[in-house]
Amino acid sequence: MQPKPAQHVRVATRGTTRDINRRIALNLIRTNQPISRADLARLMGTRRGAISLLVNELIRDRAIFEGATGDAKRGRKPTFLYIDSRQRCVVAVDIRPTRTFVMVTDLVGRQLASVTSFPTERHPARFIAGLTKRVKSILAEHKDLGRCRGVGVVVPGMVESETGRVLLAPNLGWSNLQLRDPIAAALGVPVQIENSGKACALAQLWAAGGANVPRDFVYVTVSDGLGVGIVLGGELVRGHHNIAGEFGHVPLNIDGPRCGCGATGCWEAYVSNLATLSRYFGRDLRKGPVASDVASLTVEDLIARARGGDGRALAALLSTARYLGLGLGSVVNAIDPSQVYIGGEITTAWDLIEATVRAGLAERALTSSAGATPITIVPSEQYPRLRGAAALVAASSFAKGLVA
Ligand SMILES: [Zn+2]
Repeated sequence: MQPKPAQHVRVATRGTTRDINRRIALNLIRTNQPISRADLARLMGTRRGAISLLVNELIRDRAIFEGATGDAKRGRKPTFLYIDSRQRCVVAVDIRPTRTFVMVTDLVGRQLASVTSFPTERHPARFIAGLTKRVKSILAEHKDLGRCRGVGVVVPGMVESETGRVLLAPNLGWSNLQLRDPIAAALGVPVQIENSGKACALAQLWAAGGANVPRDFVYVTVSDGLGVGIVLGGELVRGHHNIAGEFGHVPLNIDGPRCGCGATGCWEAYVSNLATLSRYFGRDLRKGPVASDVASLTVEDLIARARGGDGRALAALLSTARYLGLGLGSVVNAIDPSQVYIGGEITTAWDLIEATVRAGLAERALTSSAGATPITIVPSEQYPRLRGAAALVAASSFAKGLVA
């Protein structure tokens, strides 16, 4: 068997050797910083002299900088390489059917300013106009964050990322919508768009960065809808029509509740936040209109009620947990990942629901070992969807092999 290249960096098939080496070096510096030139040469499997030319070029381009750590007690202080994320920022946008969230990060995905949000306007042109106005004002307020390198947008729906089109976002009522180009034209910076589940999976792949990244995993994001991103062999699976991973619209029961996609009984229609709240109130909130006190209750509020002793709230959460586990059984049977990540508001109740989710998975998984597939929660405080959006822009500066 051929040994894997260092850090699982796949040799790119496009671009010049110089570009590929730049991306590989940048990614190794990002995941290992601070790192010495000698260690970088070792990780890249080349001589130190050969690295110098590349490192000097990256320093000249202000992609990295060299600084002392001050650890050495005597003699010449060793210098280390760092990614230069100063004076450059990325704007991350998470579009949800109810609200849209915006966060500014640096080039390695660290949050630089507080997250802001606004109600999501369903009319596409008005949405785009409102979003670009807000992004402009955020950047104008934060001149200290430096130049914006790009905007990453995650969408609750199917996306053709190469053309920037939203193919179908059932919960927004958007189909065949060119979303990327008008935002890019209004802001004058590159824009990347991606499906929320896929973006979260990419961010997971990118954040882990080094040798410990699982090669085969599934990321499930549960919020207003349910998105799934699949990574197999270290690559995001998009499918022939960009709809791979839409487990949210695989039915648990064809006679089940109506889903936003128009079909009945989809997994999403059982586990979305609205499904959980509908169960709590004993009526289908998708059918609206609803009283303001009902409409304003969030899943976080429901979890607080469950913790406060509200038995109905706990029962609603546990039903969702069971459906979540049963659906995960289908995902595991179809994909057989080594690891499942789950993000979304409901994960803040993980201590209450974990046993039920795992039991549902074990019940449906075809073998006992598949039923024991590890599940890791990605905390909401880490803003996984916004980090996914940031990674769409930030990660493209780094090794192409790690991010499709
Ligand atoms: Zn559906």
